[in-house]
Amino acid sequence: MSRKQVFQFLDLPRTMPQRIPLELRTSGDWGEMYGRFALPEAQHQAGRCLDCGNPYCSWKCPVHNAIPQWLQLVQENRIEEAAALCHTTNPLPEMCGRVCPQDRLCEGACTLEEFGAVTIGAVEKYIVDTALEKGWRPDLSEVQATGKRVAVVGAGPAGLACADVLARNGIQAVVFDRYEQIGGLMQFGIPSFKLEKSIVARRRDVLEGMGVQFHLGVEIGRDLPLEQLLEEYDAVFLGTGAYRYTDGGLQGQDLKGVLPALPFLVQNGRIVGGNDPWGRPIAGWEDTIALPDMAGKRVVVLGGGDTGMDCVRSAIRLGAAKVTCAYRRDEANMPGSAREVANAREEGVRFLFNRQPVLIEGDADDQVIGVQVVETRLGEPDERGRQSAVPIEGSHSLLEADVVIIAFGFSPTVPDWLAAQGVEGTPNGRIIAGGGALGDNGRLPFQTTHPKIFAGGDAVRGADLVVTAVAEGRDAASSIALMLNS
Ligand code: SF4
Repeated sequence: MSRKQVFQFLDLPRTMPQRIPLELRTSGDWGEMYGRFALPEAQHQAGRCLDCGNPYCSWKCPVHNAIPQWLQLVQENRIEEAAALCHTTNPLPEMCGRVCPQDRLCEGACTLEEFGAVTIGAVEKYIVDTALEKGWRPDLSEVQATGKRVAVVGAGPAGLACADVLARNGIQAVVFDRYEQIGGLMQFGIPSFKLEKSIVARRRDVLEGMGVQFHLGVEIGRDLPLEQLLEEYDAVFLGTGAYRYTDGGLQGQDLKGVLPALPFLVQNGRIVGGNDPWGRPIAGWEDTIALPDMAGKRVVVLGGGDTGMDCVRSAIRLGAAKVTCAYRRDEANMPGSAREVANAREEGVRFLFNRQPVLIEGDADDQVIGVQVVETRLGEPDERGRQSAVPIEGSHSLLEADVVIIAFGFSPTVPDWLAAQGVEGTPNGRIIAGGGALGDNGRLPFQTTHPKIFAGGDAVRGADLVVTAVAEGRDAASSIALMLNS
């Protein structure tokens, strides 16, 4: 590499793909906000990589993508080879390229961050979309079938990642999901302006082409007993996710006009037609709610994570007159992606930091009229390093609202049919698995207290990112392969 090439990052700024114009985004356009690079743009961005020897970006990426290597392949226009390399570490690279909070992961660790990090996520999306559109598919022609079969429960990111790695190890993966489409929260929870659902449908085609089988619309424990899976399969993987939403126990949360985030996002996705690539209503989602008309309304969203950002940006697209996000800590302590916060601000969302909700107020007809909040100051850091929010006495005020959306996060639950098989969980609903988030208890990584049952993703660690679920699904599949092949 010449000196001129090494320093081209000084001349070529960081750029993102073109975005849908703001006036469309704020007037109800639900299409994916970011477009895609053309080859020269992808090559310019890839060419900014310093190939710095110690690629912090790869270390910070939860699946440890070979980022400098595939950036080099893009520069050489070897897109299909780059796609093959992407798939060696990540079975859902086009989705992670779209939804990962890159500013907290790969791009946040880029040596060039101060000058403008390489747009890693956008290049990843470019590589995989381009290769798949050209007809490239993962090549499993050298894989020897082992004759082993594994049932994967849950077609979210952990389950899909597990199925991919099992297929690459010659193990037949059969995926069960209670919904009619794959993707879990990628299908139902993430709005289409971040991830269009045709992308999820295309991934199903790719996985089926690798030999993965899907049994959709089948709920384990209701339509099919777990015992039957244990009899018919060599192992079972549970990637059942975290769907139980946290309500915070606020007084007034049952008032008319107060909505939990997940049913709001799911129901809204149905109504705007973003959740089914064929335009059909999503079958199987029984937790439907009546959505209030948000046009011209004042909407307050409680919570500062990525789900909160999905809610505020959805409310803008639904025509709300004023959308406010109230968060109990300051901006630096917000769990949501900085890029999502910036996009929300640009779309007109107002942020109120250091405001903790105390109760939700209603009128005589039980219609919400606002949220009583108290101001906070930051205290000592908690075990995750985030500073606690300490209420300031006498600083109460009312945030007026016609609609309040509660976005305090999700948690998993251990279903009864799992407990009946001796699979243990924690008091807060996480499945206990060896070597994972809860530490090693003499079991293989991600093996539960039942030797034939493995688990990973949100069901084990609690609600987290798509890419962390992918990483755990892959690692669990490696454990399963190790057990079955030894
Ligand atoms: Fe970055 Fe996520 Fe891609 Fe890893 S998977 S390189 S963190 S966008």
